[in-house]
Amino acid sequence: MAQTIRNKILVIEDDPGINAFLRTTLTAENYDVLTVLDGKNALQVIASHCPDCILLDLGLPDMDGSEIIRSVRGWTQTPIIVISARSMENDKAAALDQGADDYITKPFGVVELLARIRAALRHTCTMAEKDEIGLTGVYRVYGLEINYRKHRVTVNGEDIRLTPNEYRIVALLGKHAGRVMTYKAILRELWGPSAAMDNKILRVHMASIRRKMEVNPNEPQYIFTEVGVGYRMAEEEDE
Ligand code: CA
Repeated sequence: MAQTIRNKILVIEDDPGINAFLRTTLTAENYDVLTVLDGKNALQVIASHCPDCILLDLGLPDMDGSEIIRSVRGWTQTPIIVISARSMENDKAAALDQGADDYITKPFGVVELLARIRAALRHTCTMAEKDEIGLTGVYRVYGLEINYRKHRVTVNGEDIRLTPNEYRIVALLGKHAGRVMTYKAILRELWGPSAAMDNKILRVHMASIRRKMEVNPNEPQYIFTEVGVGYRMAEEEDE
Protein backbone atom coordinates (compact mmCIF):
# COMPACT_ATOMS: atom_id res chain seq x y z
CA MET A 1 0.00 0.00 0.00
CA ALA A 2 1.24 3.47 -0.79
CA GLN A 3 2.56 5.45 2.10
CA THR A 4 0.09 8.18 2.89
CA ILE A 5 0.95 11.38 4.66
CA ARG A 6 -1.20 11.84 7.73
CA ASN A 7 -2.59 15.28 8.29
CA LYS A 8 -1.87 16.80 11.66
CA ILE A 9 -4.81 18.37 13.47
CA LEU A 10 -4.58 20.57 16.53
CA VAL A 11 -7.59 20.62 18.85
CA ILE A 12 -7.85 23.70 21.10
CA GLU A 13 -10.68 22.99 23.53
CA ASP A 14 -10.86 23.43 27.30
CA ASP A 15 -13.82 21.09 27.85
CA PRO A 16 -12.04 17.82 28.73
CA GLY A 17 -14.95 15.68 27.49
CA ILE A 18 -15.12 17.30 24.05
CA ASN A 19 -11.33 17.40 23.88
CA ALA A 20 -11.08 13.65 24.53
CA PHE A 21 -13.96 12.91 22.14
CA LEU A 22 -12.24 14.84 19.33
CA ARG A 23 -8.92 13.11 19.98
CA THR A 24 -10.51 9.65 19.81
CA THR A 25 -12.67 10.43 16.79
CA LEU A 26 -9.93 12.04 14.71
CA THR A 27 -7.32 9.44 15.64
CA ALA A 28 -9.74 6.75 14.44
CA GLU A 29 -9.91 8.63 11.11
CA ASN A 30 -6.14 8.38 10.75
CA TYR A 31 -5.30 11.94 11.61
CA ASP A 32 -2.35 12.81 13.80
CA VAL A 33 -4.01 14.61 16.69
CA LEU A 34 -2.55 17.15 19.09
CA THR A 35 -4.73 18.58 21.84
CA VAL A 36 -4.36 21.54 24.19
CA LEU A 37 -6.69 22.98 26.81
CA ASP A 38 -5.81 26.68 26.70
CA GLY A 39 -4.65 29.50 24.46
CA LYS A 40 -1.10 29.85 25.75
CA ASN A 41 -0.25 26.23 24.98
CA ALA A 42 -2.12 26.50 21.69
CA LEU A 43 0.13 29.27 20.40
CA GLN A 44 3.24 27.34 21.43
CA VAL A 45 2.09 24.11 19.75
CA ILE A 46 1.05 25.93 16.56
CA ALA A 47 4.50 27.47 16.30
CA SER A 48 6.41 24.28 17.13
CA HIS A 49 4.29 21.64 15.32
CA CYS A 50 2.83 23.47 12.29
CA PRO A 51 -0.52 21.62 12.23
CA ASP A 52 -2.35 21.17 8.90
CA CYS A 53 -5.68 22.17 10.43
CA ILE A 54 -6.77 23.79 13.69
CA LEU A 55 -10.04 23.18 15.55
CA LEU A 56 -10.57 26.12 17.85
CA ASP A 57 -13.04 26.60 20.68
CA LEU A 58 -13.72 30.34 20.99
CA GLY A 59 -14.30 30.32 24.76
CA LEU A 60 -10.96 29.44 26.37
CA PRO A 61 -10.03 29.97 30.02
CA ASP A 62 -7.02 32.22 29.46
CA MET A 63 -7.90 34.10 26.28
CA ASP A 64 -10.55 34.63 23.69
CA GLY A 65 -10.25 32.32 20.67
CA SER A 66 -10.34 35.35 18.39
CA GLU A 67 -6.97 36.42 19.80
CA ILE A 68 -5.57 33.13 18.56
CA ILE A 69 -7.05 33.66 15.10
CA ARG A 70 -5.52 37.14 14.85
CA SER A 71 -2.16 35.94 16.07
CA VAL A 72 -2.04 32.87 13.81
CA ARG A 73 -3.16 34.82 10.74
CA GLY A 74 -0.19 37.11 11.22
CA TRP A 75 2.09 34.39 9.91
CA THR A 76 0.25 31.35 8.49
CA GLN A 77 -2.79 30.40 6.41
CA THR A 78 -3.31 27.07 8.22
CA PRO A 79 -7.06 26.42 8.08
CA ILE A 80 -8.91 27.24 11.31
CA ILE A 81 -12.31 25.72 12.04
CA VAL A 82 -14.05 27.44 14.93
CA ILE A 83 -16.06 25.35 17.39
CA SER A 84 -18.76 27.52 18.85
CA ALA A 85 -21.82 27.40 21.04
CA ARG A 86 -25.14 27.81 19.24
CA SER A 87 -25.91 31.07 21.00
CA MET A 88 -22.92 32.90 19.58
CA GLU A 89 -23.89 33.78 16.00
CA ASN A 90 -22.23 37.20 16.05
CA ASP A 91 -19.02 35.65 17.34
CA LYS A 92 -19.07 33.11 14.52
CA ALA A 93 -19.34 35.80 11.85
CA ALA A 94 -16.65 37.87 13.57
CA ALA A 95 -14.31 34.86 13.78
CA LEU A 96 -14.75 34.18 10.06
CA ASP A 97 -14.14 37.81 9.20
CA GLN A 98 -10.98 37.74 11.33
CA GLY A 99 -9.63 34.89 9.21
CA ALA A 100 -11.14 31.62 10.45
CA ASP A 101 -12.03 29.34 7.52
CA ASP A 102 -15.17 27.72 8.82
CA TYR A 103 -17.13 26.93 11.93
CA ILE A 104 -19.08 24.10 13.46
CA THR A 105 -21.73 24.51 16.12
CA LYS A 106 -21.94 22.46 19.34
CA PRO A 107 -23.37 19.90 19.59
CA PHE A 108 -22.10 18.60 16.26
CA GLY A 109 -22.14 15.19 14.60
CA VAL A 110 -19.03 13.30 13.57
CA VAL A 111 -20.04 13.19 9.89
CA GLU A 112 -20.43 16.96 9.77
CA LEU A 113 -17.14 17.52 11.59
CA LEU A 114 -15.19 15.25 9.25
CA ALA A 115 -16.75 16.90 6.19
CA ARG A 116 -15.67 20.33 7.47
CA ILE A 117 -12.12 19.11 8.07
CA ARG A 118 -11.89 17.49 4.64
CA ALA A 119 -13.16 20.66 2.97
CA ALA A 120 -10.66 22.79 4.90
CA LEU A 121 -7.74 20.51 4.04
CA ARG A 122 -8.83 20.19 0.42
CA HIS A 123 -8.94 23.93 -0.02
CA THR A 124 -5.42 24.23 1.35
CA CYS A 125 -4.15 21.58 -1.07
CA THR A 126 -6.15 23.09 -3.92
CA MET A 127 -4.68 26.50 -3.35
CA ALA A 128 -1.19 25.09 -3.06
CA GLU A 129 -1.15 22.60 -5.92
CA LYS A 130 -3.96 22.64 -8.40
CA ASP A 131 -7.04 24.72 -8.74
CA GLU A 132 -9.71 22.50 -10.24
CA ILE A 133 -11.76 25.45 -11.48
CA GLY A 134 -8.60 27.07 -12.83
CA LEU A 135 -7.85 23.92 -14.83
CA THR A 136 -11.28 23.17 -16.24
CA GLY A 137 -13.04 26.53 -15.95
CA VAL A 138 -16.01 24.65 -14.51
CA TYR A 139 -17.43 23.88 -11.08
CA ARG A 140 -19.90 21.01 -10.84
CA VAL A 141 -22.00 19.76 -7.96
CA TYR A 142 -24.83 17.31 -8.58
CA GLY A 143 -26.83 18.77 -11.51
CA LEU A 144 -25.42 22.28 -11.14
CA GLU A 145 -22.63 23.56 -13.36
CA ILE A 146 -20.90 26.94 -13.12
CA ASN A 147 -18.97 27.69 -16.29
CA TYR A 148 -16.44 30.37 -15.34
CA ARG A 149 -15.26 30.97 -18.90
CA LYS A 150 -18.74 31.48 -20.32
CA HIS A 151 -20.16 33.14 -17.18
CA ARG A 152 -23.05 30.75 -17.34
CA VAL A 153 -24.82 28.57 -14.78
CA THR A 154 -26.82 25.53 -15.82
CA VAL A 155 -28.95 23.11 -13.81
CA ASN A 156 -29.33 19.70 -15.44
CA GLY A 157 -28.06 21.22 -18.68
CA GLU A 158 -30.47 24.18 -18.71
CA ASP A 159 -29.20 27.74 -18.60
CA ILE A 160 -30.93 29.30 -15.58
CA ARG A 161 -30.33 32.86 -16.87
CA LEU A 162 -28.87 34.64 -13.87
CA THR A 163 -28.45 38.41 -13.89
CA PRO A 164 -24.81 39.62 -13.77
CA ASN A 165 -24.99 40.25 -10.01
CA GLU A 166 -26.63 36.89 -9.35
CA TYR A 167 -23.93 35.21 -11.41
CA ARG A 168 -21.19 36.94 -9.42
CA ILE A 169 -22.65 35.70 -6.13
CA VAL A 170 -23.00 32.12 -7.37
CA ALA A 171 -19.52 32.18 -8.95
CA LEU A 172 -17.97 33.39 -5.70
CA LEU A 173 -19.73 30.78 -3.56
CA GLY A 174 -18.69 28.07 -6.05
CA LYS A 175 -15.04 29.04 -5.62
CA HIS A 176 -15.42 28.58 -1.85
CA ALA A 177 -17.67 25.50 -2.08
CA GLY A 178 -18.04 23.50 1.12
CA ARG A 179 -17.08 26.48 3.27
CA VAL A 180 -19.25 29.19 4.71
CA MET A 181 -18.81 32.75 3.42
CA THR A 182 -20.00 35.55 5.66
CA TYR A 183 -22.35 38.24 4.36
CA LYS A 184 -19.60 40.76 4.96
CA ALA A 185 -17.01 38.77 3.00
CA ILE A 186 -19.40 38.35 0.05
CA LEU A 187 -20.34 42.03 -0.03
CA ARG A 188 -16.71 43.11 0.26
CA GLU A 189 -15.57 40.68 -2.43
CA LEU A 190 -18.25 41.70 -4.92
CA TRP A 191 -18.70 45.40 -4.29
CA GLY A 192 -15.36 46.40 -2.77
CA PRO A 193 -14.16 47.36 0.71
CA SER A 194 -16.42 50.40 0.88
CA ALA A 195 -19.57 48.43 0.00
CA ALA A 196 -22.57 49.17 2.19
CA MET A 197 -22.79 46.31 4.69
CA ASP A 198 -26.41 45.67 3.90
CA ASN A 199 -27.40 42.00 4.06
CA LYS A 200 -30.81 42.81 2.65
CA ILE A 201 -29.49 43.25 -0.88
CA LEU A 202 -27.88 39.80 -0.63
CA ARG A 203 -31.09 38.23 0.63
CA VAL A 204 -33.03 39.70 -2.29
CA HIS A 205 -30.49 38.38 -4.81
CA MET A 206 -30.41 34.99 -3.08
CA ALA A 207 -34.20 34.65 -3.18
CA SER A 208 -34.10 35.25 -6.93
CA ILE A 209 -31.14 32.87 -7.43
CA ARG A 210 -32.96 30.14 -5.55
CA ARG A 211 -36.14 30.57 -7.57
CA LYS A 212 -34.10 29.95 -10.71
CA MET A 213 -31.76 27.29 -9.35
CA GLU A 214 -33.56 25.17 -6.80
CA VAL A 215 -36.40 22.69 -7.29
CA ASN A 216 -37.78 23.86 -3.95
CA PRO A 217 -36.36 27.28 -2.94
CA ASN A 218 -37.43 26.65 0.67
CA GLU A 219 -35.33 23.51 0.85
CA PRO A 220 -32.23 24.45 -1.11
CA GLN A 221 -29.82 21.74 -2.21
CA TYR A 222 -27.14 23.96 -3.78
CA ILE A 223 -26.77 27.05 -1.61
CA PHE A 224 -27.45 26.78 2.11
CA THR A 225 -28.16 29.62 4.52
CA GLU A 226 -26.06 29.71 7.68
CA VAL A 227 -28.43 31.72 9.84
CA GLY A 228 -26.95 35.02 11.01
CA VAL A 229 -23.63 34.26 9.33
CA GLY A 230 -23.74 33.80 5.56
CA TYR A 231 -24.05 31.21 2.78
CA ARG A 232 -22.42 27.91 1.92
CA MET A 233 -22.32 26.26 -1.52
CA ALA A 234 -22.77 22.51 -1.55
CA GLU A 235 -19.72 20.41 -2.32
CA GLU A 236 -19.80 16.98 -3.88
CA GLU A 237 -18.35 14.23 -1.73
CA ASP A 238 -15.39 12.65 -3.44
CA GLU A 239 -14.86 9.68 -1.19
CA1 CA B 1 -14.80 26.48 26.08
